[in-house]
Amino acid sequence: MPKIILENVSKKFANGFVAVDNLNMVIEDRAFVTLLGPSGCGKTTTLRMIAGLETPTSGTITIDGQVVFDAESGINVTPDKRDIGFLFQNYALWPHMTVYRNIAFGLENLHWSKPDIEKRVAELLDILQISEFKERYPSELSGGQQQRVAIARTLAPRPKVLFMDEPLSNLDAKLRGEMRTELKRLHIDTNSTFIYVTHDQLEAMTLSSKVCLMKQGVLQQYAPPLEIYNHPCNIFVADFMGNPAINLLHATVMRQEEQTAELNLGEHKVKFLSDTKLPKIPADIILGIRPEHIKLTSEPKLTARIYATLPTGMETTVKLKADEQIITAVVFGSVDFQVDETVNIDFAENKILLFEQSNGKLIASG
Ligand code: ADP
Ligand code: MG
Repeated sequence: MPKIILENVSKKFANGFVAVDNLNMVIEDRAFVTLLGPSGCGKTTTLRMIAGLETPTSGTITIDGQVVFDAESGINVTPDKRDIGFLFQNYALWPHMTVYRNIAFGLENLHWSKPDIEKRVAELLDILQISEFKERYPSELSGGQQQRVAIARTLAPRPKVLFMDEPLSNLDAKLRGEMRTELKRLHIDTNSTFIYVTHDQLEAMTLSSKVCLMKQGVLQQYAPPLEIYNHPCNIFVADFMGNPAINLLHATVMRQEEQTAELNLGEHKVKFLSDTKLPKIPADIILGIRPEHIKLTSEPKLTARIYATLPTGMETTVKLKADEQIITAVVFGSVDFQVDETVNIDFAENKILLFEQSNGKLIASG
């Protein structure tokens, strides 16, 4: 059964600014949905509207079969009646309370019985692996440990939905990586619906069952992360998902058949193999290809010159120059190239994306 439904939800602030524009979305029960997009695109506003902390200007929001907001009839259920947990970016723990009390406190306020509280807190201490810190105060914990206490506190009353707004942004890179694993595991262990806000495509990619990618208040694509990665609906989406970013190159279409096309990239010929029957392709297009789908080869294919190499140890980002366009390739392990050396590259013909030059829309994908 679908859990949360947003229908034509918009938010226009008092100053006339439209932060969210006619959003439609169904969040399935137990999903891990990430609201993703650049700063200011309306992610937090969307989250706050679902939680009841912000009043939409129009539209309807349904949670678990109950209409919690409807602009026309004036229904507006208060946040405390929406059965949600909210984890904020600055997960302020009560400094004068131990870890145990921080988690138990909310349950005491909800008048849970003492044995029930003890059982629930023990369970959470165990899930989040913080039992050994239960008598400590927040100031005696690392950032990551504090974060886990904050999560335990939010999860304690068993909210049906857990909202998280950039919960990892205050942590250092290594800890952020570890917490990604913990959150993913937590989602499975708790059986609840997670709605997560981030501007970090890697977090969205690795954590989510579905990503809602927004730009200037408008939903661009709502799909599983790999589908967005492999079949982005437009250039903005293609460019936002993936690091190093997708190559976007000017190309011309020489010839097209039912499922193949021959493209010209400057002087070079590139073959394109589509996964479906091709529509009529305009002559000038934008060719998209992800860095991992470009091979450096000894065969005389497309020639390019080495512009720079950026090794990380595990892989090497190779920046190439061909026909005045910079092309990024990623190869596993390390490579040994000289700057300005000429190399041959080859595009995986069934991994190419074709976009409209005029509006950036996807025409066909491999
Ligand atoms: P995000 O979380 O994606 O960074 P927000 O949802 O916080 O974006 O904000 C979306 C846009 O709405 C931003 O341009 C922001 O400046 C604007 N905004 C947020 N709150 C208000 C407000 N109370 N009044 C006017 N504009 C606002
Ligand atoms: Mg925000």
